Parts: sequence; C-alpha cells; structure tokens
Amino acid sequence: MNSKKSKIICITGGKGGTGKTLCAVNIAIMFKNEGKKVLLIDGDVENPNTYLLLNGKLENKKDVPFFKPKINEDKCSKCGLCAKNCLANALLHIKDAFPIPILTVCSGCQLCYKICPENAIEADSKTIGFIYSTKINGLSLFLGELMPSEARSAAIVEALLEKFEEILEAEPEKFDIIILDTAPGAHCDVELLIANADIVIPITEPTKFGKLDLIRIMELIMLLGKESRVIVNRSSLLGFRDQFLKELEEENIKILGDIPLDSDIVESYCQGTPIMDSNSVFDREGAGYRAFNKIYENLKKWLGIIK
Ligand code: SF4
Ligand code: SF4
Repeated sequence: MNSKKSKIICITGGKGGTGKTLCAVNIAIMFKNEGKKVLLIDGDVENPNTYLLLNGKLENKKDVPFFKPKINEDKCSKCGLCAKNCLANALLHIKDAFPIPILTVCSGCQLCYKICPENAIEADSKTIGFIYSTKINGLSLFLGELMPSEARSAAIVEALLEKFEEILEAEPEKFDIIILDTAPGAHCDVELLIANADIVIPITEPTKFGKLDLIRIMELIMLLGKESRVIVNRSSLLGFRDQFLKELEEENIKILGDIPLDSDIVESYCQGTPIMDSNSVFDREGAGYRAFNKIYENLKKWLGIIK
C-alpha cells in the first residue's frame, strides 16, 4: 500500500465490544477537526457500523464479485484433474461423472479454471458483499459489507484495500490520515488490515478476557513487525485501572492512553454524534472528552506530527 504521504493507523483489538469503532471514529474526527484530509475504512465487514456512529448514510454501493467455477458439460472429459488439485476440496468428483463444485468451501483461487485441459471450467461469479464510499461531515468513509450466509469476508476487505490503493495511486496526496477499523479477533481480515498499516492501536478493557485477547492480537501485531500502543477503554471499570495498566507495563505493552467510563461517551454513542465532533454539545471538561484529547496528543507525538 502507498504510505509515502499518508499515515495509516489501524485500530484493532482481539475482543469484540471493546470500543474499536468508538475510538476509530473519534480519532478520525479529531484529525478532521484540525483540517487533515481523513479517510476512515470500516473493515469490520460482518458488522460495519461506523456510519451509524457518524449519523450518516451509505452511498455509492458496489457489488463485490467472487469467482465461481461453472462446469461446461459439453467440453468436460470427466478426467477429475480439477478435483484432484483443488486444495479446498471444493470439487466433488466421482469416476465417470462430471465434477460438482461445492461453493461453500471454494476459495475462489481459480486453479481449476486454469488447469482444466479441456477448458471446460468457465469463470462465473456471484456477489458476496458490497463496498460503499461516502462522505459524512467532511470525513471520507469506505465501508465493506459481507452478505449474510457468506463466509469470504477477507475478499471484501481485499476489495476495500484495492479501491483505496487505486485512489492513492491516482492521487497520492488525497488523504493525510487513513484510519483502518478492523473486525474483532486475530483472523485473516484483521491481518490484512494490520499488514497495511504504519502503526497499530489495539483497544482493550480492564478484564481478564480483555487482557487474554489483547495478548493474542499483540502476538499477531509483532509477527507482522508493526509498532503498537494500546488504548484501555472503560478503564475505571470496577476500580481495576491502575492494576491493569501496571500489568500491561509488566508485559512490556506500550500504552497510548485510557478512557474512563463516562456518561457523555455512552450518550454520544447512542445518539450517533461522536463526542469529539466540533459541533457536539458534550462537556469539553468531562472525563471522556479530556481522555480522547490526551490520546490524540500522544498519538500526534508518536506519529511525529508534534514534539
Ligand atoms: S479438469 Fe476439466 S475436463 Fe477434467 S473433470 Fe475437471 S472440468 Fe472436466
Ligand atoms: S476455484 Fe479453487 S477452491 Fe474453488 S473449486 Fe476451483 S480449485 Fe477449488
């Protein structure tokens, strides 16, 4: 990915519900408030909801097609070569019969299509999801959505990244800051986005589950050789803040900041009005607002934008 001009920040976390989208949206808004050209990419394709938090609408819907092998029975010699070589075991072949594609396990690799000696496999396609591109209050948003019952979520993330690369190739200075918001977990969708980032911010919460999932995602981040700093959300939960931060330090995990439980944040979330929006009516002296501001200052120092 082209990162010569833009800074690419990936917001992730091993566990669901830790506040990844809340952080991604508010960080994007804070950069936008300072006049930066910001693109937010929602890569949580099974549950994309950044637009709701931004109180916006999805526009410019585009299908994401996925390769589907179609057997041409007039050409097929029933040799079985395609089934023998399909690593996903997605072609059922019984002697002297035409192979049957099992589309639920097909990876779309196209190997069968390329190796068939009779050219009997045709490249068909099916729509597995959509990507949208829209602008909400001066913020550019790309969002991917996987269709229900489809399993190939990584293909939607790839489509988002391809679209992004195309734009940066044509206009390298179109965006100053790109924020990638991942799905929870440490699977291939998440890996794709982390691999394309300059820096990574995992979001966690001060619970045993939060720490366990954080350690899993940290392993993936280290494997991909990325620099990371953690945000602890709901840090004042049950009074474990100090103990939790100390435990992370003992594990040599760097901390970008923490966000306490705060009624303004909850209200902003419910209303779809980001707390850091320049037009928001939330208390600028409140704990949530101050916590986000502190995180933003630390982030700019980390990126070398300010000393
Ligand atoms: S490799 Fe081609 S010819 Fe052979 S069984 Fe498969 S589709 Fe038919
Ligand atoms: S596209 Fe790849 S995974 Fe799907 S049936 Fe063909 S060889 Fe198997």
